[in-house]
Amino acid sequence: MSQGYVYVDFGAVRIQQYLTRTPELRGHRAASNSLARATADAAIQEVVEGLAEVNPEAGKADGVVSLRFPVEAGDEREGRVRRLQDLVFAHLRKALPGAEFHSIWGAGESYLAVHAHILQLKVRHGQVRHDLPPTAEFPLAAPCRMCHTDPAVGVEPLPDGSQMLCLDCSMRNVTRRQAVADDRSPEGRLLRGVGLAPAPDEFTDLAALGSMPSGRNHLATVAVDGNAFGVFFKALADEGSRDEELRTAKAEISSALSDATRAALETATLELPLTVEREQLCVVPHVVGGDDVLVSLPADQAWWFTLTFLEEFGRLVREATAEVLDKLNKLRAGQPGLPELEPPTASAGVVFAHVRHPLSLLAESAGQRLSEAKRVFGGRQASVQWLDLTADGPEAPAHLPVALSVLRSEGRGQTPAAVALSRLVKVPANHRARLTEALRGGGPLTAAAIADRVGHLDAIRPFLPPSPRHDQPPAARIGLGAALGLARWWPCA
Ligand SMILES: [Zn+2]
Repeated sequence: MSQGYVYVDFGAVRIQQYLTRTPELRGHRAASNSLARATADAAIQEVVEGLAEVNPEAGKADGVVSLRFPVEAGDEREGRVRRLQDLVFAHLRKALPGAEFHSIWGAGESYLAVHAHILQLKVRHGQVRHDLPPTAEFPLAAPCRMCHTDPAVGVEPLPDGSQMLCLDCSMRNVTRRQAVADDRSPEGRLLRGVGLAPAPDEFTDLAALGSMPSGRNHLATVAVDGNAFGVFFKALADEGSRDEELRTAKAEISSALSDATRAALETATLELPLTVEREQLCVVPHVVGGDDVLVSLPADQAWWFTLTFLEEFGRLVREATAEVLDKLNKLRAGQPGLPELEPPTASAGVVFAHVRHPLSLLAESAGQRLSEAKRVFGGRQASVQWLDLTADGPEAPAHLPVALSVLRSEGRGQTPAAVALSRLVKVPANHRARLTEALRGGGPLTAAAIADRVGHLDAIRPFLPPSPRHDQPPAARIGLGAALGLARWWPCA
């Protein structure tokens, strides 16, 4: 009789920080590519041949490796896990010299149960094996000229002359063509999926694709992550211990979720007005994990992209989970303390900034906005939070995150708030800036008085606090401050 499997997982630690530690897009691109290649199933299978197999019960994500081998009676598990870890760490280290990795393992009947009951606990308690980049053999060596982090080990040819680089930056010193040459890298995969001309080489060229009024020098960084997937998989694990059908559903659902992420990314990219106009890839993905995504794109395309992504992802996940959710909810009904499960969704953090801003800071800020959105909505609905570094500075935004359903209705439909925003966008940008100032200085009534004087009261009225005589219009839930912020990069209808 089967005694289950030993599961051994590997992941890159603080992966976004690592990928974005060099200043130029080419460096991030190359590192994303190396990560995706090194963690691809075929590459890993070759490394662990004879000791383990790539775990078919886990979903697909760049930078994550999951392995398993059958538990045999009297087996010396720990030694085998250790050998596996040594092999995989060495392989990853060669591909990504400056990254940090960790590994956890556990044994049980199914990955679903081991993940929910053993692996997550081990992570929480720090029972994890780490693999750090080697420290410098010569502490006084010159620092790398590209990342200024690690010691330089050799001279590499760069577009503007030869430089002393560290091992990691040498790996990153490849052209776009090389970095997206196959469809294992997130960008190469997206490019192949959408069948367009490749994205620009540099961030400045990417920003320059924006419309004339955008100034053509601003980019948006969008971080997306799934909501409540942990709760969903935990429920699946708990009920799955009693239900064979649910247990086997996990592997299918994990891969359906990574497929939903990739499909939503393709749809959101293809439907951008700029993509349609240029027939060129205008979105550069840096990370595409199971349910998380980090991309850069021209600022004036960000809302289109983000709302389409969240809507499409939600739709695909609803489809993929409908049957299982139905079954789970039937099993949970009547059990005290178990609320009805909703289909998981995703939320987004969006940061707008001048093209010169380093991606490492933008990725961090977008991640913070994403956390705010998730926190305010308790992970129960798709939502967005954003920050405009040029207009608002680096502090956390004063406005609350907004639910996707306020800005988009199903099937790309316009909500009342979206209609009101399209109208607000038509107010000249300098007037909107004045209203923002008035709002900060004196509050919504001061802003309303100024708007009235210059003839824009109708455009801001939907966002003013409701008067006791009227029902609250839906747009007021956003508030004037958030509306003026959204309008800055809201697409002109
Ligand atoms: Zn370096």
